[in-house]
Amino acid sequence: MTIALYAGSFDPITNGHIDIAIRASRLFEKVILGIFATPDKYLTFSLEERVDLATRAVAHLPKVEVKSYAGITVDFAKQVNAQVIVRGLRMSGDFEREFEMAMMNSKLSPGLELVCFMASHEYQFLSSRLMKEVASLGGDINSLAPKHVAEALRKKGTSKV
Ligand code: ADP
Repeated sequence: MTIALYAGSFDPITNGHIDIAIRASRLFEKVILGIFATPDKYLTFSLEERVDLATRAVAHLPKVEVKSYAGITVDFAKQVNAQVIVRGLRMSGDFEREFEMAMMNSKLSPGLELVCFMASHEYQFLSSRLMKEVASLGGDINSLAPKHVAEALRKKGTSKV
């Protein structure tokens, strides 16, 4: 059984993330959506909130399970017996960062493979950061994330993004 770890900060989960989770679950027997506790960026949602929002967002996907982790991603991959790390690539600048991380990960854990999914057309422009910016300015984000995520963002109001 091939287990894939789809790792990220998911602050919060968007339809672009969900699209990747769906596509990964067509290829792998199990997809663990791993939420990194302490990414090096400003977070809008606490770890508990990010886990709750993501868990509800993928509840309809039987092969996808949400877990959180701290520390190095490759160590978490080992812990959950994942043979593959999944990431998504948008046209605008993801590639170099992913390449750099992949090189480091392969040094740290030589057997672990990286599988990158090209972002779907409709989600190329979508990032959690941009979605939060639109929401904080009162824009309609209903087509960018599940209802409960849009609602959670509305509740955060105009807090910093
Ligand atoms: P990071 O892990 O860099 O904090 P995110 O948590 O936002 O990034 O995203 C996790 C993974 O999902 C990353 O590989 C990112 O490139 C990818 N991703 C984010 N948004 C999209 C999208 N709209 N379409 C496809 N992949 C995406």
